Amino acid sequence: MRGLLIGRFQPFHNGHLYVVKEILKEVDELVIAIGSSQRSHTVENPFTGGERLMMIAKSLAENGVVKRRYIIPIPDMDNNSIWVSHVRSLTPPFEKVYSGNTLVKRLFLEVGVKVTTPPLYNREEYSGTEIRARILKGGPWEGLVPKAVVEVIREVDGVRRMRDLSKGDKI
Ligand code: ATP
Ligand code: MG
Repeated sequence: MRGLLIGRFQPFHNGHLYVVKEILKEVDELVIAIGSSQRSHTVENPFTGGERLMMIAKSLAENGVVKRRYIIPIPDMDNNSIWVSHVRSLTPPFEKVYSGNTLVKRLFLEVGVKVTTPPLYNREEYSGTEIRARILKGGPWEGLVPKAVVEVIREVDGVRRMRDLSKGDKI
């Protein structure tokens, strides 16, 4: 059985890593779909699809998860009613979906795909919103993400990018 985990992963954090490991106990293969992959360079979506792909691939590799997973960027589609077909056109076939997102759940349920909401792990800290806020105000955030994510953010000068983006156009 092949499962699909979909998220924006802005950035990939320890909650995501934990849930990937848990899902891999119950599926043969896991497709990790990077949603809104075309978005980047905003306060809400600071990292590109490619940067997020690196974060996920390297984090899983350093945790011994190198087989049984695919990582696929999925750009948004401006039409929710055909979004599921769009996802299917870009991913290996899957039978079960994992997501906590209300819209994602609804769209899959309406076409008869099983959706499970994984239990949230240490959600106060393992949250993209919380981590982005901490990066902006100067941390501590490094302990909330896999080591590889700290390295990717450093490589792309992500902290400076985020602080710059948050300034708006004040002159
Ligand atoms: P944001 O605050 O930006 O929405 P997020 O932490 O919710 O970030 P997403 O990319 O939206 O991250 O997460 C995708 C999916 O990963 C969620 O729908 C949820 O199922 C799962 N997830 C997120 N955080 C956790 C966590 N702490 N523990 C377990 N699963 C999580
Ligand atoms: Mg979320």
